[in-house]
Amino acid sequence: ISAELAYFLRGRARQNLKLLLYYCGFLLLLILCYATLFRYLMLHLEGREFSFVAGVYWAITVMTTLGFGDITFHTDIGYVFATVVTISGVVFLLIILPFGLISLFLAPWIEQRLRYRPSFSLPPETSGHVLVFGVNPTARVLFRNLASRKIPFVVITDDYEESLRLEEEEDVRVVCGSPTDVKMLQKVRVDSARYIFANLSDTENTNLCLTIRSLCKTPIAAVVDEPEHIDLVRLSGADKAVPLQRIIGRYLGIRSTTCGALAHVIDSFGPLQIAEVPVHGSPFVDMTLEQARIRQQTGMTVIGIWDRGTFTVPERDTLLSPSSLVVLAGTHDQLRVMEELIGEQETDDLVFILGHGRIGCAAARFLDRKPVPYVLIDQEENPHCESHIAVLGDATNRHLLKKAGIDQAKGLIVTTNDDSTNIFLTLSSRNSNPHMRIVARANTEENVAQLYAAGADFVVSNASVGASILMNILESKESIFLTEGVTIFRRPVPTSVVGMSVNESRLRPRTGCSIVALEVEGEEPLAPSPETILRAGCSLVLIGSPEQEKKFGELFGPGGEGW
Ligand code: ADP
Ligand code: ZN
Repeated sequence: ISAELAYFLRGRARQNLKLLLYYCGFLLLLILCYATLFRYLMLHLEGREFSFVAGVYWAITVMTTLGFGDITFHTDIGYVFATVVTISGVVFLLIILPFGLISLFLAPWIEQRLRYRPSFSLPPETSGHVLVFGVNPTARVLFRNLASRKIPFVVITDDYEESLRLEEEEDVRVVCGSPTDVKMLQKVRVDSARYIFANLSDTENTNLCLTIRSLCKTPIAAVVDEPEHIDLVRLSGADKAVPLQRIIGRYLGIRSTTCGALAHVIDSFGPLQIAEVPVHGSPFVDMTLEQARIRQQTGMTVIGIWDRGTFTVPERDTLLSPSSLVVLAGTHDQLRVMEELIGEQETDDLVFILGHGRIGCAAARFLDRKPVPYVLIDQEENPHCESHIAVLGDATNRHLLKKAGIDQAKGLIVTTNDDSTNIFLTLSSRNSNPHMRIVARANTEENVAQLYAAGADFVVSNASVGASILMNILESKESIFLTEGVTIFRRPVPTSVVGMSVNESRLRPRTGCSIVALEVEGEEPLAPSPETILRAGCSLVLIGSPEQEKKFGELFGPGGEGW
């Protein structure tokens, strides 16, 4: 029913609805006029007095040709008037109104229904397609990513309304059917698909994987809600199990700790570690990148600067402000040198975690390992967690947070399942503590900007993290998710620039990609200076957006060939 209602509230149907309202207004006016004229004529021609209600009653019975005949004229002028009312009733009420209703509403609606015929199978020759089971915010971001890389994909859902919406509004190819029906799986050519994304509930995913495995060996990546189900999902045949909530919790945990000048390793890429160092408390405050001489002193490359949620690839004259974070790449040893350079590790860190769902719990687990002390706050107990004890109460209650000691906190993780609550908590915490490190989770993509505007230092969007992980699995890329639109990747040194220095090769001006490190087989990766010579047989580790990565491929040939 709601879908039908939605149909009438949209687009052209909505305009037609307005037209209908105007027409009804016109009819009402006509009836009122006739009623007034009726009373006037009755009084002056026949000397009979009628109430206004009787006038309306008379006009309606005559216009609808019902004509009870209990009130009638007995003069010629009266007869003429009654005839005019009857004929106008037939025209306006019995012909134009039904005709309008049918042609403006019923016909387009039936037409739309008839036009949309859900598909129940794919052509037999279909192959190399990606199959996505389950539609949720992560899947929607994934659809966009797949479409922008021109990878053919098909969504399978048993929800008719959803499939209609996806096909009509988002131009996504959909096949209707139950995901665990063997016949239907054969009809969508699971055996010749390139990859399968199982994005249903844990139990449905297990069922789906088992069914697919009874048919073929197409690789499957399954999103797992509860980390304890990972093994079961793998057992049922998934090649990759992605514990999304746990990964997001880890991201939040990593970015929430404010251990003074301690560097945080956020990920690693082969022997290279990618770490973040807050500028605040380091000797680099208010220096330009050139003055800071980070590469010369530590051998690490500065690959990016975070400032209030924006990631930029720095230039020589980029200023290191105290509110920013430097993202560095280097080996483990170089990182130690860096840490020595920027001072001792502070130990008096305290993180508040607001929301002890699966993500909050995973963040706490990450901090357990560091270890960084933390306080969990949730209005309910988490039935899946036995290791943590949360302060019970509403996180929006300022007194509760104060009593729990939020004033001592250096970091804050905002991770309730409600984005409005998250925005509110971010805003009020930023307001009372301008220096706290606030990381927040966005449940829907639309709220990322609001969370940053509310004062979050980092926002992790469930959907875009999930979609990026799945994309990386699909492209079997060893690449790192830093933020939407930034990836780190490896390429051999292109033959056309062999023998040139980094500066002469003009790789960055030509492609937009920056060089993170130069790798030689069997040696430590090297942070290249502008004078470093690019030798044949080396690999480049590069950072850039997917477009820049593509540009690199276009200029120097796609991976492996023509080097
Ligand atoms: P996920 O598992 O994805 O983290 P959940 O819905 O399980 O998501 O977790 C969200 C948690 O946030 C729940 O445990 C819920 O009780 C908690 N929560 C929601 N609103 C508030 C609030 N105002 N104060 C405290 N906790 C909250
Ligand atoms: Zn827990």
